[in-house]
Amino acid sequence: MSYHVNEKGYYGQFGGAFIPEMLYPNVEELRQNYLKVMAEPDFKKEFDQLLKDYVGRPTPLYFAKRMSKKYNTNIYLKREDLCHTGAHKINNTIGQILMAKRLKKTRIIAETGAGQHGVATATVCALAGLECIVYMGEIDIARQAPNVARMKMLGAEVRPALSGSRTLKDATNEAIRDWINNPIDTHYIIGSAVGPHPYPDMVARFQSVVSEEIKWQLKEVEGRENPDYVVACVGGGSNAAGAYYHYLNEPDVKLIAVEAAGKGIYTGESAATSVLGKEGVIHGSKTLLMQTNDGQITEPYSISAGLDYPGVGPMHAHLYETKRAEFISVTDDEAMIAGLELSQLEGIIPAIETSHALAIFEDKKFKPEDVVVISLSGRGDKDLNTYIDYFKL
Ligand SMILES: *Cc1c(COP(=O)(O)O)cnc(C)c1O
Repeated sequence: MSYHVNEKGYYGQFGGAFIPEMLYPNVEELRQNYLKVMAEPDFKKEFDQLLKDYVGRPTPLYFAKRMSKKYNTNIYLKREDLCHTGAHKINNTIGQILMAKRLKKTRIIAETGAGQHGVATATVCALAGLECIVYMGEIDIARQAPNVARMKMLGAEVRPALSGSRTLKDATNEAIRDWINNPIDTHYIIGSAVGPHPYPDMVARFQSVVSEEIKWQLKEVEGRENPDYVVACVGGGSNAAGAYYHYLNEPDVKLIAVEAAGKGIYTGESAATSVLGKEGVIHGSKTLLMQTNDGQITEPYSISAGLDYPGVGPMHAHLYETKRAEFISVTDDEAMIAGLELSQLEGIIPAIETSHALAIFEDKKFKPEDVVVISLSGRGDKDLNTYIDYFKL
């Protein structure tokens, strides 16, 4: 069995492109071109160069000595927190802005919830000199003022979504409406391994540089390319997709996906999609998502804005169904404690999303000889206020 997308855009039963008729030409143009463009030597050269000189890649694979000692195993941290703008999201937005330029697009749209993807998109639009419009729910604009300021500083226009719950899904609807009205000159940058085909595959490929680097970096220090485990937190699934990518079809590498259980899986305030989700369509693809019996999307909850998403990308739904990846849910409290612990054991303050992945060691035991690689997806600067409030620092 392959865990990569098939020609029709499916991972097993999940994926596809469930989009309004009016959007078909836009998505089809991308589908017909994305692999061809990514294979062009010029494209690859420009992408690699920007990852190196602008993003700061390769990011280090750091052996966390004190944490390894505490949990009696070998823990490596893949330092995506050291990327420009503070997280892995920039790997994807760099790829997509180059894609947009190759497709002769002059205008970029995106949607954002917490603002992290909006900032990563505004950044690459400034880099490329393209117009940037970011849709954001009115409620989120009020909650995420620093990121709104960053986007404006970078030259983006932030347009409030005023309908519905005025959060992420309403911003998504606005972005889709915009794309339908501007099919010729506009590219829509989606920020995770979600959306209609070819987005999940395209995003996974742009993020796959993470596991490509882990392979040679681990070979240098451990004498082998394959760790025993790769661990990543999952919101939509892009940092996990990148960290897993070159290991998907290597059965000796066990994959662990960590979801946000919020206040507890069954409290009604959670984002543990694999456990609570049922098959449905969200953001243009068939996947697992949290919904009521009559198919209304359930409002997710997590202390970390980046994991607060009611679905997972289709690759991850498939990894769950086939049991290729083990899914673990971590509560707000467990994540916060793990974030504080990493800060004090290793001197690295992680994003709260990432803290979820770090929290598995309390319950899950590894062997002393195991090599465990964790995707350290982002840094915690943006979360300082949440940490401070939580620990009364
Ligand atoms: C956005 C974000 C995530 C969640 O998104 P994925 O697409 O699942 O990777 C995780 N960690 C950080 C630091 C983020 O900013």
